[in-house]
Amino acid sequence: MSLSFTRSAERVVAASTLVPGGVSSNFRLGVSPTPLVVTHAEGPYVFDADGNRLIDYYLGMGPMILGHNPPEVVGAVKAQIDKGLLFAAQTEVEYEAARLVCELVPCADRVRFNCSGSEAVQAALRLARAATGRPTILKCEGHYHGWFDNVVWSVAPTPGEFGDADQPAHIGGTAGLDPFADRALDVVVWNDLDRLRRRLRRGDVAGLIMEPAMCNTSAIAPEPGYLEGVRALCDETGTVLIFDEVITGFRVAPGGAQALLGVTPDLAVFGKAIANGLPVAAIAGRAALMDMTVTRKVMHGGTYNAHPLGMAATVATLSTIADGRIHAEIARCGRRLMEGFGTVLRDRQVAGRVQGFPQIFHVALGRREPIRNYRDATAADKAAYVRLTTAMLSHGVRALERGPWFLSSVHDDAVIDRTLEVFDAALAESAG
Ligand code: PMP
Repeated sequence: MSLSFTRSAERVVAASTLVPGGVSSNFRLGVSPTPLVVTHAEGPYVFDADGNRLIDYYLGMGPMILGHNPPEVVGAVKAQIDKGLLFAAQTEVEYEAARLVCELVPCADRVRFNCSGSEAVQAALRLARAATGRPTILKCEGHYHGWFDNVVWSVAPTPGEFGDADQPAHIGGTAGLDPFADRALDVVVWNDLDRLRRRLRRGDVAGLIMEPAMCNTSAIAPEPGYLEGVRALCDETGTVLIFDEVITGFRVAPGGAQALLGVTPDLAVFGKAIANGLPVAAIAGRAALMDMTVTRKVMHGGTYNAHPLGMAATVATLSTIADGRIHAEIARCGRRLMEGFGTVLRDRQVAGRVQGFPQIFHVALGRREPIRNYRDATAADKAAYVRLTTAMLSHGVRALERGPWFLSSVHDDAVIDRTLEVFDAALAESAG
């Protein structure tokens, strides 16, 4: 049985006279066969305007680590609603959220809250420049740190645009960029210590920002020794090391990738899984850096920062995941899925690659070799993968077309079994 998405398609087209493209984020455009209109969600499922129930691996693009509508989070938010919505003041729930972040995250002596990862990244860059007095921010090719002008460079360059790996080209990620926005930005390839060493020794870099495990493009663990080398080079050159843990934070482990991989940055940025679906982000880090918001008047603001509803969701989420049991269970189911996909690919003799962490992994077609960095990832067959996700959707499994699979604590064995069946059927259909 093949599901229909006609009603979603019609509504998106009709709404585009009100909302450009019918969507409020460009990342929701161009989805095959159509961007979905969702009516509600529960547990591992979303329900769409055509009445379809879909096993959901988008999970809000990562936040829903406890699945949709977990009672502990929903209950905490409902209780907070009765107390008031916004005070332009401090709350005990904010302080409790801060205590949990600082307890779980190795680098977090202090934390400040924002509403989106893009904003929190900006705070980190500003602190790095203020701390060092240097101009340049160094980012890694293919890494995404939000949609603002000063970082949306070399996020998804095509192979023809790469430039020499010693000095990757700066490729703007959007029309309409401030033409000078990359004046104080430079780009290096990731997972390559020698090239990073040469770049950092030039002495102009205030902060190096990277995903500690690259999860926006593929799901790539750092090479053994890479992050340790990065840490040592930042120490040697006086560079502020910033981990963007918007995806990995509270997802690959309760303390994020820095806890899992054992390397502590100076600053880290969080979002997504921190509040299981409420718009909360955070910047955390060493006391001396974070306190510069006060001692050195490094501006950090936002009307909605530490929003009480988001803080209630943060406390509920972080206290639920703190002891690691939920991560262990997600890991068990995630491993089943990863191994199951690998078996299906082998049995059907389709070239493919499944790699990453059990809580966030990546599937690529057209490539069997390990993917080590952005350049490797572009060698995968994206069109074949879109055919696969489109076929899966028609069988009731919603997975991102870019290849990532987000897992939650409510994706249980029955959901995994069904997903494996659908993967097998969809691969047969889409490869044929
Ligand atoms: N950094 C990373 C690694 C991300 O994945 C994202 C969002 N996908 C961001 C930053 C930006 O976060 P937001 O969408 O909340 O602004």
